[in-house]
Amino acid sequence: MNAELRQHAARYVELLRRHGKKEAWLPTGLARRLPASSSSNPSTKSGPAPAREPKPAPSPAMRNPAPATNPKPKNDFDLNSVLQGVKGSKADKLAALRQKTTTCKICPHLAKSRTQVVFGVGDPEAKLMFVGEAPGAEEDKQGEPFVGLAGKLLTKMITAMELTREQVYIANVLKCRPDMPANTSGNRKPTRTEMDTCLPYLRAQVSIIAPTVIVALGSTAVEGLFGPQKTTISRLRGTWMELDGVPVRPTFHPSYLLHNQDLALKRLVWTDLLAAMEKLSLPISEKQLGYFLKPSA
Ligand code: URA
Repeated sequence: MNAELRQHAARYVELLRRHGKKEAWLPTGLARRLPASSSSNPSTKSGPAPAREPKPAPSPAMRNPAPATNPKPKNDFDLNSVLQGVKGSKADKLAALRQKTTTCKICPHLAKSRTQVVFGVGDPEAKLMFVGEAPGAEEDKQGEPFVGLAGKLLTKMITAMELTREQVYIANVLKCRPDMPANTSGNRKPTRTEMDTCLPYLRAQVSIIAPTVIVALGSTAVEGLFGPQKTTISRLRGTWMELDGVPVRPTFHPSYLLHNQDLALKRLVWTDLLAAMEKLSLPISEKQLGYFLKPSA
């Protein structure tokens, strides 16, 4: 490689590190040829570079940087006190929780920028719950999770399970759309602090609904539910995790599928949904078993 280019790459890695990016990703070949000064990070050490999984395509929320972090706000919300005197069905309890959530101002920047809180939608008695990362522009406008392009795909996935949106429950880790600088489009990934602050609301939803299975959509949702992970969503999908005693099936975010129209990828997500159906003791037809398999020659 050209020496000048190598120096450029080295400076780029140093810069990323100085800004707290511990895992500066470089093409394997380039990482191996970086000068020694840039190899303090194990991911750029000389010698064979670790094999990289395909990086999940950025969900819309991953394309923009998060704003500078403010002091960590505290959400001392207590479900028992919210439900005090609410002696009804799960629907009544969710309504009380919704009321509490929709007036939340713990993250002042989000309370200021949001059109509305996007609480969640579906059957309060649902056995299956889908959890995404955060509302996008369309969800912020309509007040319902997963109503944009990724949402349309999620609806198709639910239909393929022979279920309807009304039979499941859909929510996000973050209830407000992550704010964006003025005159910019797209979404940004929620910060760790934002997710930690909002998580008690989602856990309260889970506690009231008490689903049999949760499907976590994408790496950010997994991170929001369980904290930073040492591994990728590619490795976590296909396995079971657990949140407050409820089995959680991580899978790729629908917007990843929108960016990667690969049949094999659709099959992986479908396999996760089949596993969820099995856990729910839902009937699975021969036809469903064969979805997204390569047609035999
Ligand atoms: N992506 C999410 O994670 N949640 C939504 O509500 C919409 C898109």
